[in-house]
Amino acid sequence: MPNANEILTAAHDEPPIFALGKPGRANTYFAAGPSAQTFLPASALRDDLPLPDNSELDVVRHYTRLSHRTFAIDLGFYPLGSCTMKYNPRINEAMAALPGFKDLHPYAPDELAQGALQVMYDLERALTAIFGMSAFTLNPAAGAHGELTALFIAKAYFEKCGEHKRRTVIVPDTAHGTNPASAAMVGYNVVSLRSDARGRVGLDELRAALGDDTAVCMMTNPNTLGLFEDHIKEITDAVHAVGGLMYYDGANANALMGNARPGDMGFDLMHLNLHKTFSIPHGGGGAGHGPVGVAERLVPFLPRPIVTKDCDGIYALVHDGDDAIGTMRSFWSNFAHAVRALSYVLANGGDGLTRVSQLAILNANYIRVQAREFLEMPFDEPCRHEFVASARALKRETGVRALDLAKALLDRGYHAPTIYFPLLVPECLMIEPTETESKETLDGFVTALREIVETAHANPQAILDAPVATVVGRIDETRAARQPDLRWTPVL
Ligand SMILES: *Cc1c(COP(=O)(O)O)cnc(C)c1O
Repeated sequence: MPNANEILTAAHDEPPIFALGKPGRANTYFAAGPSAQTFLPASALRDDLPLPDNSELDVVRHYTRLSHRTFAIDLGFYPLGSCTMKYNPRINEAMAALPGFKDLHPYAPDELAQGALQVMYDLERALTAIFGMSAFTLNPAAGAHGELTALFIAKAYFEKCGEHKRRTVIVPDTAHGTNPASAAMVGYNVVSLRSDARGRVGLDELRAALGDDTAVCMMTNPNTLGLFEDHIKEITDAVHAVGGLMYYDGANANALMGNARPGDMGFDLMHLNLHKTFSIPHGGGGAGHGPVGVAERLVPFLPRPIVTKDCDGIYALVHDGDDAIGTMRSFWSNFAHAVRALSYVLANGGDGLTRVSQLAILNANYIRVQAREFLEMPFDEPCRHEFVASARALKRETGVRALDLAKALLDRGYHAPTIYFPLLVPECLMIEPTETESKETLDGFVTALREIVETAHANPQAILDAPVATVVGRIDETRAARQPDLRWTPVL
């Protein structure tokens, strides 16, 4: 199987852009304008570096061509479970690009940044109302970063209370891998809870894990199987009864808005992924935004700065606070994302956000009830924003696995669902359509899935060979992840 370098070359059908340059091609537009010498001290300038010398036009064409060879939400259906690949409304981009936001200097004094501070303040208020928490911080830069922030808050809270022996974090086996990883990074011991036969947290198993060493129980609800934890109040009560805190992983809150609030369920801490639920572009490792919400007694521990508003309506960034855990992200974190998220909230309004969640649930169930005709459903009941199917029977009968099915979808113009997560379901396919897709798109996807399963029975090799229509075929994914070779080395 090819390694990453061979894949890149195959994907380009041409050498890397750096190799296409010729001496003197670069910077022709600016030859008469200010040069690097104007801005940099002479000591910083070197002419012995083997930098590529490409014309702007060649670079633009190269990257535009490459952008057409990958998959994107703007090109097709992207039902990547737990990732909420919804449409990114262009109004958000227009708002984030307003000069008053885009060109604002991070060191601008509060009195010159009132509009930007109001964006952060209003977004925090909106999130507080939608999710039933007492306050939010916009500090964390992504979901996992939000988990880390929240666990630092929990730790600071227990230390302040003198509860030093609370060293355990409880995490169900359906949890996203970032949950136990974040807990371990903060120095906690992680206890994993096995799901019950209904795909939920079992109360007996939970009670057995609880004790005076319990710090936090981290939960996702609806969980990653797309199922609502219907005993959530008993769960949060049981954890509170031993003095622990409840953490809500709200990375994917697309089923929740206007339907239920973590604060009302008894959660003390939570994070959101604005880059999932709140329609901010993501994927490819792009910038995220992971605000953290807390209950009243944890507000003093929020990271700084926080935005305040006085009785004259003047906004300010407050940096001090004796109990604050510090600062998780420089300046105003990913501020442009706060603008996009607030734009999304205001464009939808409360009723609109409720409708978002209703349609997300409807779309997932619309696919689910059709897919159960030809795919195994380990938890065969109405789902929330996503559901999990299994290719276990298909593999037994035809040798075609979830991975092969996912690859065959690529040939048919659809992004693959999430596969092999959550870990407790063998040959698992996790499908999340989101609310922004039309009935025609959902129908087309179901037709493709059905046809792949039929082909698997008639001619399994055709599916095992997929994808054949993409720029890159099967790759050795383990080697690509473990031994990535992404460098271009100039010939000197
Ligand atoms: C995406 C996701 C995360 C992690 O979010 P990042 O922004 O990728 O760090 C955590 N939990 C769940 C359930 C998720 O879907």
